[in-house]
Amino acid sequence: MNAIDTPAVHSGRIGPNAIIQTVQALRELYGAAGAAEVLARIGKPELRDARPASMIDERDFAELYHDLLQTLGRAATDRVMARAGALTSQYVMRRRIPRPVHWLLRALPRRLGMRLLLDAISRHAWTFAGSGRFSYQIGRAPVLALDNCLTARDLAADAPACAFYQAAFQGFLATLIDRRLRVEEVRCLACGAARCEFRVIEVTR
Ligand SMILES: [Zn+2]
Repeated sequence: MNAIDTPAVHSGRIGPNAIIQTVQALRELYGAAGAAEVLARIGKPELRDARPASMIDERDFAELYHDLLQTLGRAATDRVMARAGALTSQYVMRRRIPRPVHWLLRALPRRLGMRLLLDAISRHAWTFAGSGRFSYQIGRAPVLALDNCLTARDLAADAPACAFYQAAFQGFLATLIDRRLRVEEVRCLACGAARCEFRVIEVTR
């Protein structure tokens, strides 16, 4: 992955993609007019044409997520955030990971490829996790974890709430390692767990 300047002290800022791709997901799922209507309903009509070029305050993304939850409900918001996460991973793979690295990761033995990919994700984690903390463990059942996850903090939910990250992680792993890999959030801070944990599983078909 290309280097992105890492601030010496983390200030709770993340890349603009989280918001840009959430708005894009709204457009895909509701059409341009529908997306504009949703953004107007949550009091953020200016996001319709938002193209922030620099880092954003992580709280803006968390607030957008909470606003969507309140307005659209859980199921619809999950669909939006899952699409936003997938779009974010596609953007990063297209713009930040050179093609030869794609080929290399896919050609390597899976565990090695996964380790290289997850190391790279760790180095850039602040761009999507903000003041949250990304870690991973590659065992028989690989697990990715987010401490103090942005989409789970200050939220109480019956089911894991971090569809954005689940979809983004799956986008990377299924595209760059093996298309049979799926990512499932199995523990979530919003459900009372100590942190959010995402299990990597392989589907047989
Ligand atoms: Zn979570």
